[in-house]
Amino acid sequence: KTRGRNLVNLYDPEDMTATHFHDVQWVPLIREALRNDRFFLVFQPVIRLSDGLVSHYEVLLRLRREDGEILTPDRFIPVAERMGLIHAIDLWVVEHAIDFLAGLPNTQSHLALTVNLSGHAFQNRQLLPLLEEKLKATWVPAKRLIFEITETATITNFERTREMIAKLGALGCRFALDDFGTGFNSFEHLKNIPVHYIKIDGQFVLNPPHDPTDRMLVEAMVKIAHNLGKQVIAEFVETPEMLQLLHRLGVDYAQGFLMGKPEPQLLPGSSIPLQPFL
Ligand code: C2E
Ligand code: CA
Ligand code: CA
Ligand code: CA
Repeated sequence: KTRGRNLVNLYDPEDMTATHFHDVQWVPLIREALRNDRFFLVFQPVIRLSDGLVSHYEVLLRLRREDGEILTPDRFIPVAERMGLIHAIDLWVVEHAIDFLAGLPNTQSHLALTVNLSGHAFQNRQLLPLLEEKLKATWVPAKRLIFEITETATITNFERTREMIAKLGALGCRFALDDFGTGFNSFEHLKNIPVHYIKIDGQFVLNPPHDPTDRMLVEAMVKIAHNLGKQVIAEFVETPEMLQLLHRLGVDYAQGFLMGKPEPQLLPGSSIPLQPFL
């Protein structure tokens, strides 16, 4: 194990040849993980602040390595993108998210999931057919799927992305603009993509209790979103102090370790008591 750690340190990710070497090593691991179902999904609740109701869950991907270690997406998604394996992963996630919805009991037949799509997903010609087929086979209504899109996702091929978004929207799927405020084109995207939710990036959420600038930025983003008829989710909500402030700034939904960590199963109830926090 120690040697493994040293090995990782030897290959500086800043160094191109080292990165390539590192990437190549990942390919068989990711392929094997796809084949043998080593990937699994965890679910993190998004809570409506007006009443504590679970609005939906965000689906996050995990990889269980052979030695039992669980890897988070920052470890393998960038590699998968560089090595052309991201399409297969995107399809896997969409397919399993729909299966999960289909398997929920009747009492949760309205619950929605948000799924993160990589920028590459919009160039993935297999995605739409798979989605249509899967929704039809499982009778899951498309409105129970919300796709989280980041700004970088739309840079590669804007026309193709818009076309895909239009088609997914026509099926009934919904959209959230993820990591809002971190890119240069936040407002352009707000104008061009028919999103239901904007997710204020965690970096603005972690500081507000102490940073007046962040506080003002959050307030401004909420105002703009509301004026455009969108609802606002704040992610990375870790303390009651943050939750209280975000609620006061007009944020509609909150997600973070305070209300629930990403877990392989859903919360036992359909709401959580927010009174102790607010
Ligand atoms: P993201 O979409 O911004 O997801 C939020 C990340 O913040 C998740 O990390 C989540 O576990 C973490 N998080 C949640 N609550 C808190 C909190 O209160 N405090 C802090 N500090 N962190 C919190 P995770 O699961 O490691 O995912 C990292 C990124 O990987 C995601 O960022 C998303 O961009 C990407 N990702 C995750 N699942 C998928 C997937 O299925 N497909 C694709 N293409 N990307 C994925
Ligand atoms: Ca996300
Ligand atoms: Ca985010
Ligand atoms: Ca992110």
